[in-house]
Amino acid sequence: MTTATIASADPVVARIADLRRQRRAVILAHNYQLGEIQELADFTGDSLELSRRAAATDAEVIVFCGVRFMAETAAVLCPGKVVLLPDPRAGCPLADMITAPQLRELKVAHPGAPVVCYVNTSAEVKAESDFCCTSSNALRVTERAPGREVIFVPDRNLGQWVQRHTEKHLSLWQGYCPTHERISAEDIRRALHRHPDAEVIAHPECRAEVLDLAHQVLSTSGMIRRVREAAATTFIIATEVGMIHRLQKEAPGKRFVPASVRALCPNMKLITPEKVMWSLEDMSGQVSVPQEIAVAARKAIERMLEIG
Ligand code: SF4
Repeated sequence: MTTATIASADPVVARIADLRRQRRAVILAHNYQLGEIQELADFTGDSLELSRRAAATDAEVIVFCGVRFMAETAAVLCPGKVVLLPDPRAGCPLADMITAPQLRELKVAHPGAPVVCYVNTSAEVKAESDFCCTSSNALRVTERAPGREVIFVPDRNLGQWVQRHTEKHLSLWQGYCPTHERISAEDIRRALHRHPDAEVIAHPECRAEVLDLAHQVLSTSGMIRRVREAAATTFIIATEVGMIHRLQKEAPGKRFVPASVRALCPNMKLITPEKVMWSLEDMSGQVSVPQEIAVAARKAIERMLEIG
């Protein structure tokens, strides 16, 4: 989504617009970012869309409003460009749940099995993997991996969901997103009791008991397509609450109810307009990946981008 209007009455937003021109920068924002960040970004999307944007941009500087693994992915795909993460503390607990040495041990335990890693991983883990995937293409990528057995890391919920739809055998890592784990089946039942005609859309990072109650299991980009096309007018959204802002913008005549207001990612919310401004002013928060790791990680990411 390209944001055309800039609220230049806001001095911070106006300063960001100046700096963006001076630095020849592009601002990318994940769908889970604060509404004001989504509004000032040049492009808002999910991990796959943002990876594609990063790979295609001719800007010299990429300001990544998201978490560290996303900025690392941009750095891997764009050697020679400066990638800024406006708050260096913005990490992802799910990505931190597996390390490269742990993945190497897993590969020894499952010799010959290809590794599919969710994009929510460090560059080191991607460098040890054969394919990267996002929630929108996890099934497609797994199906394309050679052989009957696939090592799938690190998200167990996404992995279990893929396992339900493939004949292949997945060896799963027991990682999870603490934000999506906060959404319970009881939350869905309660929301459905209040909105009996609503359609429930859940992200595959949610627990299996939540996915069992959902009418649709979709990535954030899939959610946008669905709410535009579906006949339903009310939707219960089981994912990080920042998504509600994006959905309201994309389908303004429809109603969106968060499955749980507790599903708020504190890392995603670390990025503020002020931090974007300071980062562009000082060129602070630069993210880089060592060359050897970047080359290996790029192979896994590019295989994913080819599969689409
Ligand atoms: S929502 Fe979950 S997976 Fe996404 S950045 Fe936050 S902790 Fe990581």
